[in-house]
Amino acid sequence: MQSVLVTGGAGYVGSHVCKALAGAGYQPVSYDDLSTGHRDLVRWGPLEEGDLGDGERLSRVIGRHRPVAVLHFAAASLVGDSVRDPAATYRANVAGSLGLLDAMRRHGVEAMVYSSSCATYGADAPQPMNEDTPQQPINPYGWSKLMTERMLADHGAAYGLQWAALRYFNAAGADPEGETGEDHRPETHLIPRALMAAAGTLPHLDVFGADWPTADGTCVRDYVHVSDLARWHVAALDHLLTGRGSLRLNLGTGRGHSVREVIAAAERATGRAVPIRIAPRRAGDPAVLVADCTRATAVLGSPPVHTELDDIVGSAWRFMERRGCPSHRR
Ligand code: UDP
Repeated sequence: MQSVLVTGGAGYVGSHVCKALAGAGYQPVSYDDLSTGHRDLVRWGPLEEGDLGDGERLSRVIGRHRPVAVLHFAAASLVGDSVRDPAATYRANVAGSLGLLDAMRRHGVEAMVYSSSCATYGADAPQPMNEDTPQQPINPYGWSKLMTERMLADHGAAYGLQWAALRYFNAAGADPEGETGEDHRPETHLIPRALMAAAGTLPHLDVFGADWPTADGTCVRDYVHVSDLARWHVAALDHLLTGRGSLRLNLGTGRGHSVREVIAAAERATGRAVPIRIAPRRAGDPAVLVADCTRATAVLGSPPVHTELDDIVGSAWRFMERRGCPSHRR
């Protein structure tokens, strides 16, 4: 069985990808410091506890497991934190990625699937956005992801690295079989917070702006089911390992939903009202972000399966009910 190293394998997207990798016959080896990930979500292969900044440990783990590729998820992932403390974000996301690339090169690992983001695009781009949309991030998080994309391209040109930069839109939902899901503490994302407000562990959901230039005044995002993301990661890995060339792809559904539509879906999923409060706009939020995923669908060979918002929000609710609702306190 071929092993693959999954940094951040105990995290939200990483754990779903581990499940998909195991289903496709790979052995996922998770490398995670458990700072935000969960030991009990590492279920499809071994866990190697370690910090991305610890190059020696990374090198030993790669030397021991001899992965054919690395899937790289470990990152500081909150935009707000990146604005408050950019040094921490750049250290984790840029210096951490460079250390990982060094360790891979030392051991001759020549393929990386990288968790990039639609935050690498500019705020005023026409929607939906395809891969040729100019990349002009508006916060340090977006820049850290773009800098790493650049490092991958340069490593490809100079050292022959095969790489895939997968630019996610809004990862959402949970494994339909309930084996893993989203459990961020603190939780900042819309869908889980709407569910928490319905369940009563949040007093209300703040809606960040109701005066946006959209149909109902709230922001529109492209919510893509995490199990679709996971399947596409395996397809991107197969693409690289069969020598079909490096990739930059948008991963979304091509459909946008407003904050109010998400709230209505959370009310249908839970059968309860979501108390809301209209709050000021959140810094750094564009009005609309929707993927043109024509290229991803063509290259990776399959469109998204979970395209209905009710399916996405319902799967998130079933996981939250099973695991217990996080409280709003840090
Ligand atoms: N949002 C909101 N209230 C919240 C969290 C998010 O109104 O408590 C909005 C946010 O402004 C954005 C959308 O929901 O328009 C999705 O935000 P999220 O943080 O889930 O993902 P992001 O788009 O920042 O990656």
